[in-house]
Amino acid sequence: MKGKLITGMSVNREVRIYVAQTTEMVENARTTHDLSPISATALGRTITAASMMGMMSKIDKEKVTLQIKGSNEIKLMVAVADSHGNVKAYMNNPQAVNIFDEHGKLDVGTAIGKDGKIIVIRDIGMKEPFLGQCNLVSGEIAEDLAQYFAQSEQQPTAVSLGVSFGKDAHVKYAGGFIVQLLPETTEETIQQLESNLKGMPPLTQQFEEGLTIMQIAGQVLAGLGFDELEEYELNYKCDCSREKMENALISLGKTEIKAIIDEEGEAELVCHFCNQKYIFSELELTALIEAPNEVLS
Ligand SMILES: [Zn+2]
Repeated sequence: MKGKLITGMSVNREVRIYVAQTTEMVENARTTHDLSPISATALGRTITAASMMGMMSKIDKEKVTLQIKGSNEIKLMVAVADSHGNVKAYMNNPQAVNIFDEHGKLDVGTAIGKDGKIIVIRDIGMKEPFLGQCNLVSGEIAEDLAQYFAQSEQQPTAVSLGVSFGKDAHVKYAGGFIVQLLPETTEETIQQLESNLKGMPPLTQQFEEGLTIMQIAGQVLAGLGFDELEEYELNYKCDCSREKMENALISLGKTEIKAIIDEEGEAELVCHFCNQKYIFSELELTALIEAPNEVLS
């Protein structure tokens, strides 16, 4: 379930790059949620993007939630990443029907639909979370994310995300990169970057050819050099717990818990992110109602 991420700067300090390899993480998401290939592609890109966005923060407790709201078969994807490389995700339609474009590639843009939104929530565990959003450009996620960074965070950004499959539909390669220009980037650097990106084959093809994320970073920054390298581990894992589920129940309030006892006898809560089931018996629910707690009303 582990992935890898590297981040660094161009030698002239004008460009920051993040490159992630998320193959096992996306494969884990595929088996956890029983994803069809197009759903795995869409959610895999979202997981990869979120994992890099989580690592953009230097704040220990910060969490980044990346939401893609679509208008076609895929209506909602949610990936949550923290600044330690942990990512969890779910989507509304794990078995979206595979559709292909004219090149025979899975057409994620159509499955999501252009009439949607990309929403980013940065929660540092205090005060109000920061929320930014913008309309989807293509539904392909990489372009949409680049547009989001440019529009909502005033940060010129290039994004590439890729997921490919082996013969038995398991995830063969998954990964991505995000390149961001810092405020004083010169025209010369921009032109160099544009020409580097133009000549690059798709990311999954580069993985197929055996390139490491370090070598891919080197290609993106060809002619600019690579500095301040940092390397991190990524993990696809859920942080749900019985205690968190209990808090979710408590937040429903006494009346609602009583109604559950009367109607269902017990409460079964399922975590969206990992499908783990939590069952609270009548006795446990009654204890929640009777416990002195200011949240309850
Ligand atoms: Zn969970």
